Amino acid sequence: MNYRAVFKCIAGCEGEYDLEQAIYRCPKCGDLLEVAHDLAALKQHSADEWKKTFDGRYKRTEWPFGSAVWGKKEWVVPGVRDENIVSMDEGGTNLMWAERFGRELGMDELWIKMCGQSHTGSFKDLGMTVLVSVVRQMIADGKSVRAVACASTGDTSASLAAYGAAADIPTIVILPRGKVSTAQLVQPLANGALVLSLDTDFDGCMAIVQRLSAEEGVYLANSMNSLRLEGQKTVGIEIVQQFDWSVPDVIIIPGGNLGNVSALGAGFDMMEALGLISKRPRLVVAQAAAANPLYLAFKNKWEFQPVTAKPTLASAIQIGNPVSVKKAIRTLQKYNGIVEQATEAELADASARADLTGMFNCPHTGVALAALLKLRERGQIGPRDRVVVVSTANGLKFTDFKVAYHSSTLSGVPTTRANKPVDLPNDYDAVRRAIDTAEERIHAAQ
Ligand SMILES: *Cc1c(COP(=O)(O)O)cnc(C)c1O
Ligand SMILES: [Zn+2]
Repeated sequence: MNYRAVFKCIAGCEGEYDLEQAIYRCPKCGDLLEVAHDLAALKQHSADEWKKTFDGRYKRTEWPFGSAVWGKKEWVVPGVRDENIVSMDEGGTNLMWAERFGRELGMDELWIKMCGQSHTGSFKDLGMTVLVSVVRQMIADGKSVRAVACASTGDTSASLAAYGAAADIPTIVILPRGKVSTAQLVQPLANGALVLSLDTDFDGCMAIVQRLSAEEGVYLANSMNSLRLEGQKTVGIEIVQQFDWSVPDVIIIPGGNLGNVSALGAGFDMMEALGLISKRPRLVVAQAAAANPLYLAFKNKWEFQPVTAKPTLASAIQIGNPVSVKKAIRTLQKYNGIVEQATEAELADASARADLTGMFNCPHTGVALAALLKLRERGQIGPRDRVVVVSTANGLKFTDFKVAYHSSTLSGVPTTRANKPVDLPNDYDAVRRAIDTAEERIHAAQ
C-alpha cells in the first residue's frame, strides 16, 4: 500500500510540504503546519481491518510494530523506512482503573493513563521517536542536519537527548535555569547532550531555539514541529484500543504548550474519519493557575492573550505563550471542551490525596486530578461517566516536589497529608510503641 502524508498549513493556505523538509511554519501566512494524511488510501482498509492490524501488533515483538506508536505507522508517518526508525518501545502504557480514588469521588469508572511509564518517564517519547526517526531518514537521504535542538521545561529535553543519543545525532537542549527537576537536568547530561542552561523562562528559551533553527541549521524538536504531534496522537487511539475500541466519556489532560491536547484531538479525528469510532469524548485541559492563558481564554469566549507564567510546582506546564494555542482551541471547540485550573495548594493536595490510594503522581497529574475534583463537585462529571486522566510524567522524576510536600517545606501550600519518617533508636520496644501510637492515631481520626 502506498500511504502518503505531508505538511499543510492549519489556516488552509494552498501548498504541501514534504515531511523531510525542515519547515515549521507556513511560508505564506506564518501559521503552524499539521500533518495531513491521504485518508482515501487509508480507507481502502476497513475500520475492522485497522483494529485487527493494530491489535495484532500491540506489544508484540515484530520490530518496529511492538512500539505502540510504530504499530500504527501507516497513520503516523508512513514514509519512514523501517531501517531509519529510532524506537525504544514507546506507548503501550498502563491504563489503570483507579478503583479506590474513584470510589472516594463517587465514581465507578475513573481510569489513569500512565504515560510516564515510558523510556524517559514522560509522554514526550511518543512524539520524539517519530521526529528523530524522520531526522535520521533526512540524514540518510543526504540532507545536512547540524544538530537537533529544543527548548524545554524538562521532559522534552530528556526525551530528545535519549533518542538523539540512540541515533547518534548531536543534540542541543536549552533549559530555563533552576526551573527543571534534578532528574530532568541529569537525564540529558547523562545522554551526552549539549545542555545550555539559560537565565530565563521557557518562553525565553523557545524564542532562542526558534532563531537557532532559522539561522544556524539546527533542526527544531519542539512540538511546534508537528511531527511530534503525529506520535503523541497515538495516545488517544491507544486509550480507545485498550477499552476494546470503545470511547470514554471524558479525558482530562494537563496542558502547557498545548501540543498534547491538539494531538489527542487529532487521534480522535482520524479514528472518526476512518470509521473506527462514532462518538466523541469530552476533552478537558487542566492548567496551573500560575500559568493559565488557555483558562483565561476559555472564560473569555476563546479570546486568547499570552501571560507571563509565574513559578509553579507543575514546572513542565509553566508556559505563558503556548505555541499550539490555535490548534488547541480548535480541538476544544470540536470536543465540547472545558478548561479548568488548579492553584498550587489544590494541585499538591490532589496529588497527595490520590497518592494515598496507591498512586505516585507528578505535579502535572496533580493539576489534572484537581480539575477532576472540581468537575465532579460541580456535577460536570457524573457518577457513571467513564473518565480518563492522562498522567503525563512519572512521579519519580519529581521527588523534589514529593520530598518538599512530605517535609512540609512548600511555602504557601498546606501539607495536611504529609507523612514523615519516624526516627527511632535500634530498640525493639521503641518500634513496638511507635506502631501502637500510629494505630491509636488512626483510630482517633476515625
Ligand atoms: C510537556 C508536558 C506537559 C504539557 O504538554 P503540552 O503539549 O506542552 O501541553 C504536561 N505534563 C508533562 C509532565 C509534560 O512533560
Ligand atoms: Zn498559511
